[in-house]
Amino acid sequence: MNNISNILNKQQQFFKSQKTKDVDYRLSLLKALKSKILAHENDILDALYKDFKKSEFEAYLSEFGLVISELNLAIKNLKRWSKPKRIKASLLTFPSRDYVYKEPYGTVLVIAPWNYPFLLAMEPLIMAIAAGNTIVLKPSELTQNTSQIITKIIRNVFPETTAVSIEGGVETSTKLLAQKWDYIFFTGSTKVGKIVAKAAAKHLTPVTLELGGKSPCIIDDSVNLKLVARRLVWGKLLNGGQTCIAPDYVIAKSNIKKELIEALKSEIIRRYRENPKTSPDFPRIINEANTKRIEALINTENIVFGGEISTENCYISPTIIDEPSLESKIMQEEIFGPVLPILTFETEDDIENTIWGLDKPLSLYVFSNDKYFVDETIKKYSFGGGVINDLLIHFGNHRLPLGGVGASGIGQYHGKHGFDTFSNTKPIIKRSNWFDPSFRYPPYKGKMSFLKTVFKYFG
Ligand code: NAD
Repeated sequence: MNNISNILNKQQQFFKSQKTKDVDYRLSLLKALKSKILAHENDILDALYKDFKKSEFEAYLSEFGLVISELNLAIKNLKRWSKPKRIKASLLTFPSRDYVYKEPYGTVLVIAPWNYPFLLAMEPLIMAIAAGNTIVLKPSELTQNTSQIITKIIRNVFPETTAVSIEGGVETSTKLLAQKWDYIFFTGSTKVGKIVAKAAAKHLTPVTLELGGKSPCIIDDSVNLKLVARRLVWGKLLNGGQTCIAPDYVIAKSNIKKELIEALKSEIIRRYRENPKTSPDFPRIINEANTKRIEALINTENIVFGGEISTENCYISPTIIDEPSLESKIMQEEIFGPVLPILTFETEDDIENTIWGLDKPLSLYVFSNDKYFVDETIKKYSFGGGVINDLLIHFGNHRLPLGGVGASGIGQYHGKHGFDTFSNTKPIIKRSNWFDPSFRYPPYKGKMSFLKTVFKYFG
């Protein structure tokens, strides 16, 4: 028996022992995980810097801090979340007491990406454990320093029967996907998401697919451009533009384009200096292959700012592209880097042509002070989630679910939504025996009009 199926087998046996159904056991694991993560704070922040020069501030804000708050939330609420919930009974089931039970799926596989390598591995792990599952995690092979510290933490906190981190690339992922899991949680590209969905379909395994796509940012002419530029530069360049919910491109009202570009240029210089390469706050592209991929997207376009590339240093300076065609490569593929194309619109049709010409995005952003325009826009387009007059911050509220729609993903998580994702919801009716009306039993003769009355007026 090879290593993977051996681990899976042990976890399946352990799950059957019912130990993970014990909420106190889960709580003790989450508390141990929290204290181990806190003890390794510096190692985690160092690893993120080594992997792609992510600054300590961004690493804390967008990874470490969010993991700690997710742990705090789970530890505080786990007893309440896991209790069977009493549900109002129905006249049709009278007399009864009705409940919803949350049960763990069993043994789950989590495959994580490289772009927020600590957060996007730990957050599903926390909620999978909170919900009572056992878990095999595969962190990204592209962020080796972070993946190693993740493996070390998991090894120190969890018995192998409860949680294991298996490092490796496509080959390892493929072997893991060939096994039969009770749930698969994948974060990554739409392309690999399809491979995961296919593998899951073989065993009808339920999946969550947290994918990417081209998220638009629409800006009309009712806005304060200085404020928009400040928020846009932050939301686009955080993590070096390698954020799944980052605005991929802008569609601006044509009469503000020139002024918007000037405001963006000044804002980039204000935040990252004339030469962002020397800024301690500007991360690098994850590897040479991705640097070359982005280079190929921009080298035939009209670059109006930036465009400096150093492949061996995995560096691409913040770059603005003026009006690429909708057929261009840069408008067909998720950019995932510090490059912002600016398209323009005159009428609603122009916005529709752009957004409806692409797959449903993970996020959509609107900057406008026109309430009608905002409301119409968020109702018209289908997308995973969004923000009006800012960017990314919907990620910051654990009460809001995060997830895509169509090609940008299936399923949602975050906070309690994550606990629910890793739980099967089991409806249970506890029936009383003191009363057993004969109405539902044959013979049915003479019962029809009462049946109709019940459904029409009380059902
Ligand atoms: P990726 O799809 O290349 O890789 C993700 C994971 O899948 C990695 O662990 C990798 O080892 C594994 N993998 C890669 N190729 C595989 C294959 N052929 N078979 C099986 N497994 C394979 O994604 P990435 O480059 O790590 O991350 C970037 C992508 O993730 C972007 O598209 C981004 O939008 C998306 N993303 C989405 C979210 C979200 O929450 N929706 C969050 C972060 C990133």
